[in-house]
Amino acid sequence: MLRDAIIIGDRMVTRDELFEQGLRAARGFHSLGLGENDAVAILMRNDFSFFEASRGASTIGVYAVPLNWHNKSDEIAYVLGDAKPRVLVAHSDVLLGVDDAIPNTMELFLVPTEGNSAEQCEATVKARQLFPEARIWDEWLQEFDPWTEAAKAPRGAILYTSGTTGRPKAVRKPSMTPEQMEQFTKFQRLTFGIGPGTRALVLGPLYHAMPDASGRAAVAEADIAVLQPKFDAEGVLRIIDEHKITHVALVPTAFVRLLKLPRDVRHRYDLSSLRSVTHTGGPCPPEVKREMIDWWGPVINEVYGGTEQGVTFFCRSPDWLRYPGTVGKPLDGTRYAVLGDGRTPLPAGQIGEIYARNPAYGDFTYVGRDQQRREVEYEGLITLGDIGYVNEEGFLFLCDRKNDMVISGGVNIYPAEIEAVLLMHPEVRDCAVYGVPDDDLGESLVAAVQLRDCAIADAEDIRAYLKERLTNYKVPRKIEFHGSLPREDSGKLLKRKLRDPHWKGRQRAI
Ligand code: ATP
Repeated sequence: MLRDAIIIGDRMVTRDELFEQGLRAARGFHSLGLGENDAVAILMRNDFSFFEASRGASTIGVYAVPLNWHNKSDEIAYVLGDAKPRVLVAHSDVLLGVDDAIPNTMELFLVPTEGNSAEQCEATVKARQLFPEARIWDEWLQEFDPWTEAAKAPRGAILYTSGTTGRPKAVRKPSMTPEQMEQFTKFQRLTFGIGPGTRALVLGPLYHAMPDASGRAAVAEADIAVLQPKFDAEGVLRIIDEHKITHVALVPTAFVRLLKLPRDVRHRYDLSSLRSVTHTGGPCPPEVKREMIDWWGPVINEVYGGTEQGVTFFCRSPDWLRYPGTVGKPLDGTRYAVLGDGRTPLPAGQIGEIYARNPAYGDFTYVGRDQQRREVEYEGLITLGDIGYVNEEGFLFLCDRKNDMVISGGVNIYPAEIEAVLLMHPEVRDCAVYGVPDDDLGESLVAAVQLRDCAIADAEDIRAYLKERLTNYKVPRKIEFHGSLPREDSGKLLKRKLRDPHWKGRQRAI
């Protein structure tokens, strides 16, 4: 069986080869004069070069800034203007889609499409015409010997939040102390399980905090680490079977896409090697999770946390089956509070804003937003803007993002609850419930629904379905149909894109 292999798509390198390339990148970046507080931006699908560039940056104490390769030009321009990286390493085809966002002051490195040489890759040829100064990443690395000096205090990365509730925020982590590093590794092993003796599959784009952290752990420690350049549901099953994968890290949309595979495809693969599957990054509808546990067994674990605070709560399948919908209990050392109006701490069972902090994940700053940093803090705890409650046994339940809560006629409504019911409608593929201005109630509910192919349900059918299952005030007044809904690759719904046009020139109460 393979050992110390990193596999992405149909390509494989050894751990030593990948690390050596990273150390060449360190030497290369150093030769460009990069130093403290400089940053290297990375714009690519999951690829070896992603790890090379981020390791190269961290080895010489420079921040890596992974960019969301699904973003459009104006979003990339915003992040580049915000983080001001001096270097950009990019897949040529991704770069071509956002070329007008790239300032001509940046050092540019091109990575051809996976598996192609620079000459074979049409996008690289075109990108070189647009940016004649750009260099080919692999060719450039070969000019350098690996960095042999002691690593500088490693900089984490500047990671951007998903931008679910507004513009993405740049979260900068200072370097960790050795004790924090030890604790961090302990929690990564406990929650994601990835370490020596495991065969890891990390799903999700590396520009997100979770795949980034678990991807780096897998590449550094697992016996083999497998990633996909882009998510492919049947490919996931094939990889688990072929490489006898023991540990998987993923976001909940991956579950939804896996469950859509036809039954015969689902049963074609042997998944008996799985020991732990950890999901995080967004809400997982309870029915989806239940179906996954039925299929993959009680190996499904859940992590709650975010870019700013790392992992704070953790839940294994048996606890979840006892308390369906919970995201679990706090990890050792994690402090938390549920706060109500006026930031008063609330007792068990009462709904409020969740504040938490796991010291193992270190502190953070929002680049250029000191005020915002102060606003999210309460006595050393941090809120991500999630609303929820803790039950008598200490299990946390999330209701929704505070920003998405709807106050209608003075009543707080959590759209996530309505969406979970709507998703169970046999003809609904996807949905989003949000608030629009209402002169009478302040806000009223709208449900944006994407139907399955060949579905025949109309708005009245949907409302009737909801009326049978929910109190009247939770049934949206308006049902609108969409061809698709604005979702991030991680599965997060960008509700603001649906809601904001309704609120032009008006202020929401939240
Ligand atoms: P932004 O702050 O820019 O709006 P974001 O909060 O989505 O973006 P991330 O740091 O990527 O940025 O995600 C953290 C959020 O993901 C949490 O605040 C929470 O809403 C959600 N989340 C994480 N884990 C879970 C979980 N297990 N269940 C439900 N939601 C989760």
